[in-house]
Amino acid sequence: MIPVTTTTFKHILPVNDNGFYGPFGGAFVPDVLKPNIDNLREAFYHYASDPEFKTEFDRLLRDYVGRPTPLYRAPRLCERYGAEIYLKREDLNHTGAHKINNAIGSALLAKRMGKTRIIAETGAGQHGVAAATVCALMGMECTVYMGATDVERQLPNVKRMEMLGAKVVPVTSGNSTLKDAVNAALQDWCDNPDSFYLIGSAVGPHPYPEMVAHFQSVISEEMQKQLLEQTGRAYPDAIIACVGGGSNASGAFYHFIDDSRVRLIAVEAAGLGTESGMTAATMTIGQEGILHGSRTLLMQGDNGEVADPYSISAGLDYPGVGPLFAYMSQTGQTEVLAATDAEALAAARTLARLEGIIPALESSHALAALEKIRFEPGQTVVVNVSGRGDKDMDTYLQ
Ligand SMILES: *Cc1c(COP(=O)(O)O)cnc(C)c1O
Repeated sequence: MIPVTTTTFKHILPVNDNGFYGPFGGAFVPDVLKPNIDNLREAFYHYASDPEFKTEFDRLLRDYVGRPTPLYRAPRLCERYGAEIYLKREDLNHTGAHKINNAIGSALLAKRMGKTRIIAETGAGQHGVAAATVCALMGMECTVYMGATDVERQLPNVKRMEMLGAKVVPVTSGNSTLKDAVNAALQDWCDNPDSFYLIGSAVGPHPYPEMVAHFQSVISEEMQKQLLEQTGRAYPDAIIACVGGGSNASGAFYHFIDDSRVRLIAVEAAGLGTESGMTAATMTIGQEGILHGSRTLLMQGDNGEVADPYSISAGLDYPGVGPLFAYMSQTGQTEVLAATDAEALAAARTLARLEGIIPALESSHALAALEKIRFEPGQTVVVNVSGRGDKDMDTYLQ
């Protein structure tokens, strides 16, 4: 058994020992999963404070993932927006998005816990590819649940997962997108409690939101060093990140969460507009409820049922949000913006044409915020480019 060392882990996020971020978070799981969740929490806190674990994690991030990712000053964006715009290039990670950071950390943890089978869910397919990749790397079996709608719109990623040896299971319940894939993955975990559930975002029951943010925090750790080198100051005036569940944003904000000098700007998917009924803007229109093991904000219908979300971007097409962002959006620690499908598409085109970088559709929502905010000349703004746009070429060309 793993020794209990929960006291040595220091919470950087505004979360208590029971996984509550103010009223949000916690671990609302069926009884069959309670021992799993307890085990996972103890293992995570133990290994997160273990220097050997950190050495192995850092080595894989460097030699396998290709970190640190560049912090790139984008000169033509600076000119267009009248501020110092930097891009954190998570799109240059192995497998094309930030998801691999968490997949590596979680799979290392699974290995330490003696697990041999991984369950994962995926929306855009980036987390599924990351999960399939680390399973190949570490010799574990991998089953990925994916909404049937997403299987269709992100086919290249389905092929990649299969090439990597994962089993992809299309899910046809609900509107056949990410929420439904998470439900199917949780059901598999209930049926197979010896498997390890590798969640792809900062959502789910405690300790997942804190654990995923911890593994993603390398993003802001690197940012501090890179900003100091490039601007002479270890913090920016603002950081912009898109939020589906909140993993890339929590990683990009992590080391600045208590720094009142830094504006933290979270951008969610408005879809066709936040009041259109075709949206995924959970922080803007969501109400309190419980989704996927966590008390959070979620989009609900007239009878309190979980509403079907909509966004052009499969990775943001989720009716909930991680409890950290539910909390910080209510305390005002993070500013919340929503970008529509059309605004995201325009932002992708702008970045491609001005800087020669094709961003993921998800990341394009963060870039769209540059059109909505006026920055002062000389202010330093970091946009987290969470992934690359290869998987979205069909959508862009249409
Ligand atoms: C999955 C994904 C997202 C959204 O998920 P978060 O957990 O909110 O980061 C954003 N960008 C890319 C490229 C993704 O693959």
